[in-house]
Amino acid sequence: MDKICIKGLEVFGKHGVLPEENALGQKFVISATLFCDTRRAGKSDRLEDSVNYAQVSELLKAETESHVFRLLEALAWHLAKEVLLHFEMVQGVTVQVEKPWAPVHLPLDTVSVQIHREWHQAYLGVGSNLGDREGQIHAAVEYLRQDELTRVVQVSKLIETEPVGYTEQDDFLNGAIEISTLRSPEELLELTQGIEGKLKRERKIHWGPRTIDLDILLYGREVVQRENLCIPHIEMERRMFVLEPLCQIAPYAVHPLSGRRVQELRQALLDGKNV
Ligand code: AMP
Repeated sequence: MDKICIKGLEVFGKHGVLPEENALGQKFVISATLFCDTRRAGKSDRLEDSVNYAQVSELLKAETESHVFRLLEALAWHLAKEVLLHFEMVQGVTVQVEKPWAPVHLPLDTVSVQIHREWHQAYLGVGSNLGDREGQIHAAVEYLRQDELTRVVQVSKLIETEPVGYTEQDDFLNGAIEISTLRSPEELLELTQGIEGKLKRERKIHWGPRTIDLDILLYGREVVQRENLCIPHIEMERRMFVLEPLCQIAPYAVHPLSGRRVQELRQALLDGKNV
């Protein structure tokens, strides 16, 4: 991807672990690499079609001056997040924060922290079979929208499905959601489990223990194999209630382990070839 680079922006700030640093302040040197597609601007030669690096530099300066963080890591993350949230064309950003006058008392040039953050496309599966099923799914989507680090891109139509496995329960409503998120897979799981928790709490009072299920189906093309988190979701290619709504919004999304598209997985399941 193309890059727009801001190098060596000097800003006076008060970040640091020592109280003297927070009181007196010192120089910080900030560099940012903005990853974005510059093709349109390259052809049109119009600033509106690109990212205005003067505005990004102003934002970096203002945010560095108006906050006090203890750690360079926290400052770097804050700056990366602000750039990604304010400039829609920026897909990813590398931020470096240098502190040349860091109180280390040794002959060094500078200390710095560099981080890279970017938007990730992910798909979630959602299901409910108790109480106000549709209302709860909408509430889950609304909670996703409220998350500062997540954008809801598309929501599939909801489909009515019969329960799989334990069949002595009511039919489900199932759907799929496309999001764009700055969260890591683990941070995304924290969010989805938090939302399940919030809706479960309400559920406990009104309708009993199981009214919403939010699963991470795909996270870009990443493969995560942890005890508490498997991406792609381990059951997705065997579940029509996942593939059907997912196919509505992402027929060409690729399952990174099988290399097959969602629409192929759906067709194979219909043909009885996935099991
Ligand atoms: P369930 O409520 O039946 O979907 O199961 C939730 C459990 O599955 C939690 O303990 C999660 O840590 C675990 N899990 C593993 N992979 C995933 C995933 N891709 N999405 C959501 N939960 C997952």
